[in-house]
Amino acid sequence: MKAMRLEATGKLFTREVEKPRPGPEDLLVKVEACGVCGTDRHLYHGEFPCTPPVTLGHEFSGIVEEIGSAVSGFAIGDRITGDPNIACGRCSQCVNGRVNLCRNLRAIGIHRDGGFADYVVVPNKQAFLLPADLNPMHGAFCEPLACCLHGIDLAEIKAGSSVVVLGGGVIGLLTVQLARLAGATTVILVTRQAARRKLAAELGATASVDPAAGDVIAQITGDTGLVPGGVDVVMECAGVGETVVQATKIVRPGGTAVILGVMAQGETVSIEPFDLLFREVKLVTSFINPFTHRRAADMIATGRIEVEKLISRKVTLDEAPHVVTHPPQPGEVKVLVVPGL
Ligand code: NAP
Ligand code: ZN
Repeated sequence: MKAMRLEATGKLFTREVEKPRPGPEDLLVKVEACGVCGTDRHLYHGEFPCTPPVTLGHEFSGIVEEIGSAVSGFAIGDRITGDPNIACGRCSQCVNGRVNLCRNLRAIGIHRDGGFADYVVVPNKQAFLLPADLNPMHGAFCEPLACCLHGIDLAEIKAGSSVVVLGGGVIGLLTVQLARLAGATTVILVTRQAARRKLAAELGATASVDPAAGDVIAQITGDTGLVPGGVDVVMECAGVGETVVQATKIVRPGGTAVILGVMAQGETVSIEPFDLLFREVKLVTSFINPFTHRRAADMIATGRIEVEKLISRKVTLDEAPHVVTHPPQPGEVKVLVVPGL
């Protein structure tokens, strides 16, 4: 079979490898689609720890082709989505219910072979059933959606809340939709590309802000702004210093700012503790997907989340290294690697 292998930092190739064999507790899954994520680019550049040689790809779904002898709950032919993050279940974090902070966390597509391949091995406990009639491309959105769901849970959005989402990539555009579903009546997306602001309106954003049109904080919280005095919740989904700082200033006194974006290790920002204290701002960080993959799969399965509009391109495994080794094209939201293309 074919697989896109990270051989070492800066060395990413699609080549023939041996088809994997499932262990007793594993499913062998024929991959239908696997999303390219910013993390894959970080892995390629050596900016995120991993263990090459390894097949990348952690946003995958596909059809069960073989099942191990000890597997229960799945049958050959089932469509599944895999939660790539495998917690040990025994460390001090796991036993306290913080599986996303597991000290021995290992991820499919980072530490063990992932979904940019014809086949991927998925441990039974990491697999979640998807409907047989689902669009086979849509299962690949379960993983990013599960991460956004954790952020939305931490934000504690109430019906009627006002929410600002900073950054209109796939994480921001999924978060806009989740904020609406959580009951927010005002959902404002801040992103630089006009095409993404237009897309956000189609996905339920009530307004959008162009950072080039003037100071973002003033455009939102100023006396003549969209929500004078600040919003209940800010979701930072851009992963740049500027937006992390904006998040702490756009939120109203007593409101919550959730940081989902990943800044490079060692990078710092300047925030004012005095301001945070006297406005009692809740500053929360959200890391991956603890116990949210099932809900994400249900939301994708029932069509509650629009994902078709987020698919910019589908590419083959042979074309995939070029996608990961180059920056995203303007306007692009999600590229799917489709082995069967
Ligand atoms: P992405 O496509 O890079 O989206 C981020 C977008 O933010 C950019 O495309 C850009 O769109 C926008 N942006 C950049 N600078 C901005 C600025 N100054 N003001 C407003 N918008 C700005 O990545 P993604 O896949 O959506 O992921 C978003 C972030 O979440 C990344 O940092 C990623 O690593 C992280 N992430 C975190 C988790 C988690 O578990 N916490 C999970 C997955 C991903 P424009 O060009 O339109 O401005
Ligand atoms: Zn653990």
